[in-house]
Order: sequence, then structure tokens, then C-alpha cells
Amino acid sequence: MRLMRMILVGPPGAGKGTQAARLVETYKIPHISSGDMLRAAVKEGTNLGKEADTFMKAGKLVPDDVVIGMILERVAKPDCANGFMLDGFPRTRPQAEALDTAMTKANVKLDAVVLIEVPDQLLEERACGRRSDPETGLIYHLKYNPPPPEIAERLVHRKDDTVEAVTTRVQKYHSETEPIVPYYQNKGILERVDGVGDPDEITKRITAVLKS
Ligand code: ADP
Repeated sequence: MRLMRMILVGPPGAGKGTQAARLVETYKIPHISSGDMLRAAVKEGTNLGKEADTFMKAGKLVPDDVVIGMILERVAKPDCANGFMLDGFPRTRPQAEALDTAMTKANVKLDAVVLIEVPDQLLEERACGRRSDPETGLIYHLKYNPPPPEIAERLVHRKDDTVEAVTTRVQKYHSETEPIVPYYQNKGILERVDGVGDPDEITKRITAVLKS
């Protein structure tokens, strides 16, 4: 199996989580969501986890160097032997630059940054219909990927998956996160994938660009 160290990028609701769940199987690499990783480090009580916790408890953003430190610790774990799929970080260009510096220092080379492109008009409907299963971590959509009725009760609807909140998150994506796209393009590792269509089709598009 070829080493595959990659970052998934795209607006909220683009299908990063949905595709990550599939790519995990294909490449046998873990899906590292920065939010989940932070919560896990706090729970485990690692040094960086304790540091992050003080910021989170104060309602502040965890500083970039703490998050990056955690990412480097995480990707050094044995389950990342074949690579990893990072999702949720970087969210700004300075974060991308800082991550780059830290990875170079740690001798970790990124193989690809996959950008899942979806027009804004579709994001709202995707995010508002999103439901996740806390027991399995699976992501459903009320219309596009309906959950089985027997688990309906336990499904979670994120508080920020409302029309207003999604609109704000999408705008923030355009102003703050999108500048990382030309950054990675200049480095020659950006792969754009059309995120409109059937999820299976999109998985095929991603695996195709990663092969080339
Ligand atoms: P992200 O992680 O990028 O925010 P998700 O993977 O959580 O996005 O997907 C957002 C919502 O859109 C979910 O409800 C998911 O089921 C649905 N979804 C994902 N991919 C597609 C697709 N190709 N077509 C229609 N709906 C999709």
C-alpha cells in the first residue's frame, strides 16, 4: 500500500466526513478530524490536551501551535503507518504555513490536498439535512442518505446546522479558509474534485485523482 498523507478541504457540508469514512477503508488510513482529535487529547489528559483544555474552558480558540503539536503527535502513532486523512485543519492560510513548517521539521511530507468543490446553493440543504449517529459516527442526510428508522431517536442534529449558521460558516470559509487553496496549488499538491453527484461517484473521482 502506497503512503497517503492527505488533507481534505472544502466548505461546510461539502461531504468531507462522508468521503473520509469511505476513504478510510480504501487506503487503510485513519480519518483525523481536528475537533475529534482535540476532544480526545483533552480526555486522555496529554500535556497538549491539558493546555488545550484551559483555552477551551475559557471559551477561547486553541492556539495554532497547540493544535499543530497535537496533529504531529497524532500522525506519529502506529495507525498512521500508511498515512492519514486530516480534516478540519488548516482553516486559515497562516495555519497552513505553520503546519507546513512544523511538518517539514518533523520530516512528514504531505502527498495531497483534496478540495471537494460544491456550489454554495447546495451546501445549505446538505448541512441542514445532516444527522449523525453518535454510536457509529456515521453521517446521514434526511433526503440524500436517509437513516434507518430504528436509529432515528438517537441521531444528532448539530446546533450550527441551521440555515443562518450554515450561511455564516460558508461565508467564513470563503473569506478565511479558501486562501489555503492557492497556497497548496502553488506547492503542486492540490487536487480539485467535483463534489456534486452521488457519494459513490465522488469517492471514485477522489481515488482517481489520487492515483494520478
Ligand atoms: P462535511 O464533513 O464536509 O461538513 P458531511 O460529510 O457531513 O460534510 O456532509 C454534509 C451532509 O451532506 C450530510 O448530511 C451528508 O449525508 C450529505 N452528503 C454528503 N455527500 C453528499 C452527496 N454527494 N450528495 C448529497 N448529499 C451528500
